[in-house]
Amino acid sequence: MSAPLVSLLFALALVVSLGMKFWLSSRQMRHVMLHRGQVPAAFAASVPLAAHQKAADYTVAKGRFGLLALAFESALLLGWTLLGGLDALNSWIYGLTAEPLGTMGYQLSLIAAFALIGMLLDLPFELWNTFRIEQQFGFNRMTLKLYVIDAVKGLFIGALIGLPIAALILWLMGAAGSLWWLWAWGAWMGFNLLILVLYPTVIAPLFNKFEPLADEGVKVRVEALMQRCGFAAKGLFVMDGSRRSGHGNAYFTGLGAAKRVVFFDTLLERLAPDEIEAVLAHELGHFKHRHVQKRILSMFALSLLGFALLGWLSSQVGFYLGLGVQPNLAAPNNALALLLLMLALPVFVFFFTPLGSRLSRKHEFEADAYARAQSSGEDLARALLKLHEDNAGTLTPDPVYARFYYSHPPASERLAALQASP
Ligand SMILES: [Zn+2]
Repeated sequence: MSAPLVSLLFALALVVSLGMKFWLSSRQMRHVMLHRGQVPAAFAASVPLAAHQKAADYTVAKGRFGLLALAFESALLLGWTLLGGLDALNSWIYGLTAEPLGTMGYQLSLIAAFALIGMLLDLPFELWNTFRIEQQFGFNRMTLKLYVIDAVKGLFIGALIGLPIAALILWLMGAAGSLWWLWAWGAWMGFNLLILVLYPTVIAPLFNKFEPLADEGVKVRVEALMQRCGFAAKGLFVMDGSRRSGHGNAYFTGLGAAKRVVFFDTLLERLAPDEIEAVLAHELGHFKHRHVQKRILSMFALSLLGFALLGWLSSQVGFYLGLGVQPNLAAPNNALALLLLMLALPVFVFFFTPLGSRLSRKHEFEADAYARAQSSGEDLARALLKLHEDNAGTLTPDPVYARFYYSHPPASERLAALQASP
């Protein structure tokens, strides 16, 4: 591929995706504001106007901030690529490390420096989001101290996990012959499976406490349900989400012996026992329908495409030059190729967002149907409304925006499906 063609494709995809993101977000904010004055008829009996308006204001505050972040991210992406930022960083790190650390040391240093700079530039946005927007709407429970501890822990864990897998992939790129991308893909898959087991059992407990459900009254119902559904009773945990935020949630995660259903304590406090049972039945629906496994399989397939693409692009001089980087003459370009792909690929992958969202919404409908069969659709509907209110989720999203981005169906659609005759 010639360099000008690469630049042109990249710039075109960036401009079009930016336009679409801006358009979608503006639609969403306009639609929500238009319906701010009145709770939709279907929810009029169950949702107070004040909660509806808070959800609208929260959606718009997030949306505006999102546009600001989008503008910054896009400028940064251009800075790294076409304006020569990564090229400059590369020259600097190369001069600093190639001699004392060797080619692997230089490549890992480049990746680490890139990741660190990205984190630092992202920091003001994260701080503003947590301590201004979340604070303003009464969701933030994080102290600055906890924030710093989290950040430091995250940095260490990221380095501990990220550097070895990066080193392994860089080594395979250099040593495994022309089919290195197949080997690298295999290593990446093994790594992902490992994380899926380690995340719930080792990594998440470094940030939160996970405890078995304590409430005896709820426990009996919940254990009966888990037995009916064939799920190991030790797989239900309560997480102290209230340490960081007032948002409530429940999720299903992990593989094999590490699989578990996690309830945030914030959610548990708000739900009646029958509603807790219904939410658990929904999460067990994800387990019964093997949604985690299906997700992994599609990730396997997509990352194979990604590595094949990397295998081809990393040997094209035009790929580097077209994205603003002068390839090294005396050292491997593998770290550069990895970073460039990580920068450029999301711009193109964005256009496929609706496919992933649709699949995710399909899974949510399946889990809801399962909950309805095993527990009660009405209880789940009530629990969902409380969850919506606690998260200030809007009940009136723009239909196009929701089709494009929503991983969960809009509340109106979910409740309609739960209440429809079977
Ligand atoms: Zn779900």
